[in-house]
Amino acid sequence: DRALGTDDPVVSAAIQAELKRQRDQIELIASENIVSPAVMQAMGTVLTNKYAEGYPGHRYYGGCEHADTIERTAIDRVKQLFGCGYANVQPHSGAQANGAVLLALLQPGDTILGMSLEAGGHLTHGARPTLSGKWFKAVSYGVRRDDCLIDYVEVEALATEHRPKLIIAGGSAVPRVIDFARFRAIADRVGAYLMVDMAHVAGLVAGGVHPNPLSHAHVVTSTTHKTLRGPRGGIILCNDEAMAEKINSAVFPGLQGGPLMHIIAAKAVAFGEALMPEFRTYAAQVVTNARVLAETLKARGYDLVTGGTDTHLVLVDLHSHGVTGKAAEASLERAHLTCNKNGIPFDLQKPAITSGIRLGTPAGTTRGFEAAEFARIASLIADVLDGLARNPDDNSTAETIARQGVLELCRAFPIYAR
Ligand code: PLP
Repeated sequence: DRALGTDDPVVSAAIQAELKRQRDQIELIASENIVSPAVMQAMGTVLTNKYAEGYPGHRYYGGCEHADTIERTAIDRVKQLFGCGYANVQPHSGAQANGAVLLALLQPGDTILGMSLEAGGHLTHGARPTLSGKWFKAVSYGVRRDDCLIDYVEVEALATEHRPKLIIAGGSAVPRVIDFARFRAIADRVGAYLMVDMAHVAGLVAGGVHPNPLSHAHVVTSTTHKTLRGPRGGIILCNDEAMAEKINSAVFPGLQGGPLMHIIAAKAVAFGEALMPEFRTYAAQVVTNARVLAETLKARGYDLVTGGTDTHLVLVDLHSHGVTGKAAEASLERAHLTCNKNGIPFDLQKPAITSGIRLGTPAGTTRGFEAAEFARIASLIADVLDGLARNPDDNSTAETIARQGVLELCRAFPIYAR
């Protein structure tokens, strides 16, 4: 019965420090969440010892009966959650899920069409340094200059010109609902597959407050750890048996080896939680809170990309305040408000500096924050940013009044309380 604290004080101390950090800050990173103790417990189990290459009923190792039960449970639950016919729950991450779809459906050198990183797309949708950008001919679409919404006319023109085999919809900094039907119509017109990467909004889809891309896409990928509030990982969903077989072969043995059975168990637990009525309440509150955050920041004079949000995230354009994303992120962190700098469409600053910050409500909402708390959080954010705009070297607002306000909120809404 040896414990981490005595066996490995170095790692143990860092984990304890991270727990304290999470307890004493407000998590506004839009891609993060706070998993339940049940999800956490499933991850730290004997399942990490088990090799289970293959799929339930067809494994390359003995002793897989319980692994089969767990993986089948995860598959059944996620199919029910998103109303689809086939699911692969083995991708180790969202990037792995996207890579597996490319491997399943395309040949190296084929053309793909995805949203540009600058406009809010994800690296794996064709950015140069990634496999998707290196091994495929990646063409990208952006957003309109006037309202920062996806330019569907451009998407259609690029699709017609380049004849991609796969079109990717979805992104990491897209505050508005995407018109999946329109994407599908464009894909059909040029004979392309449509893949929707719903990583950011999966929890909102599961909670019934966002359109379900499975009604339109040939294939849907997602992470499980963002709004969906599960362990870090990926999933691939579709409704076509032949495609599902290709995807299974692409995940294993195409791209991965043994599945992480402890993570798949935690995915099953999280999917079970997301099937509960409480999760619908949660998802609705995430969206309400994002709207409150958006409206309060606007009332304080801050510009938002697209003017607001339909989802869980808000992209603040700091350009008119003369504040960079980098400085804003650092100053907010001093107030224990954790967020990330983020490029805004047509940003003139470099990616390491940026003119924006991305703020999200999934983690804070899990903590119990509702509209009143998010209005307070927004005004604390505005206080810090106002201070920075007045004097870039003065972090006193962040370090005193704002930090005090944040700590009061953290104490009133504790996480992982003993
Ligand atoms: N797809 C989207 C839209 C994302 O935002 C992300 C993560 O940031 C990913 C895929 C990649 O997920 P992971 O970090 O699990 O590889």
